[in-house]
Amino acid sequence: MHSPRLTVLAGPTAVGKGTVVAALRARHPGLAVSVSATTRQPRPGEIDGVHYHFVTDAQFDEMVRDGQMLEWALVHGAHRYGTPRAAVEERLGQGVPVLLEIDLDGARQVRRSMPGANLVFLAPPSWEELEHRLVGRGTEGPAERERRLRTARTELAAESEFDHVVVNDDVERAAAEVARLMGLE
Ligand code: 5GP
Repeated sequence: MHSPRLTVLAGPTAVGKGTVVAALRARHPGLAVSVSATTRQPRPGEIDGVHYHFVTDAQFDEMVRDGQMLEWALVHGAHRYGTPRAAVEERLGQGVPVLLEIDLDGARQVRRSMPGANLVFLAPPSWEELEHRLVGRGTEGPAERERRLRTARTELAAESEFDHVVVNDDVERAAAEVARLMGLE
């Protein structure tokens, strides 16, 4: 038996974290996935409290100041995202395993603040595949293209900091592997 604990799923931009989490939720509807707070605007179809807690800059500042965030980061230099601590601690306290889908910066903070957390790195099947996903449409100029690839190389190098590496070669297979790591299957 695994004792329920916090699992962090992180990985490079465009590796498909969201898709793997959706597949995981479909396999395990009762799974507790943390709902992050963010200062970005909702996209069409996104529901406050379901996909994110959409907050203002002032509200986010207050949450950070009051120690309500388990971790938080400025993602892509644009908006802040953070994990509200209370909901996570409540579920863990009830014996429910919790999943966080966050960026690499956030994963590093969780490692420091909760050393018992299980850090899972979602990796692309190959560098070529990630490159294709990042710049595949070819709609960006050469400078933006180079910037994205440089970021991706740095992000891939973080793999060694994680407890487990799951390759996203097939969404269902990757979701099943994460589920096993969480003790759900
Ligand atoms: P999006 O704006 O596309 O929903 O998410 C952008 C990025 O923010 C994703 O890479 C996602 O992993 C990251 N992210 C979402 N929630 C959090 C969070 O609570 N903390 C951190 N550190 N990153 C997050």
